[in-house]
Amino acid sequence: MDNQAKLEFKSLAANVAFARVTVAAFASQLDFTLNDLEEIKVAVSEAVANAVIHGYDNQPDGIITIIMTIREGTLELKVIDYGRGIANVKKALEPSFSTDPERMGLGFVFMQSFMDNLHVESTPGKGTVVTMNKSVSLSGPKEQVEH
Ligand code: ATP
Ligand code: MG
Repeated sequence: MDNQAKLEFKSLAANVAFARVTVAAFASQLDFTLNDLEEIKVAVSEAVANAVIHGYDNQPDGIITIIMTIREGTLELKVIDYGRGIANVKKALEPSFSTDPERMGLGFVFMQSFMDNLHVESTPGKGTVVTMNKSVSLSGPKEQVEH
């Protein structure tokens, strides 16, 4: 059955783990494998960490919203911040690109490889919306097939 939930929280680093666990709990309604759920957790962590670190420059007063939708065996996640925004999205998506020399520039690469689709919309000064999808594989969860 289709389902939707919305999470809203302050831009604190502590909420990265909260978001990761909560999205995984919601995603568990679908027949994802444990490996899929781990991948979803990493993608959520990266998107929320980016909102905290880059979107809000580590200031705790920003609001981060995650809209989670289940539609026909697919999980769609929208991670939204109302922070600084990204001047050049194409460049930001390139592997190893970071505006912070201390960072690896791999967050978007992880999101892209662990989810089926990644789409980034951003307006400088207004904020960023990261949309990601992941579908349950047709064979279903391996754990259930094999015992
Ligand atoms: P890492 O994720 O490896 O720690 P990173 O965060 O710099 O490094 P990405 O997650 O790939 O790498 O992001 C690339 C760049 O895109 C960032 O350096 C930042 O400039 C920009 N960016 C990403 N997300 C946001 C956001 N929500 N708001 C503003 N800028 C962002
Ligand atoms: Mg990052």
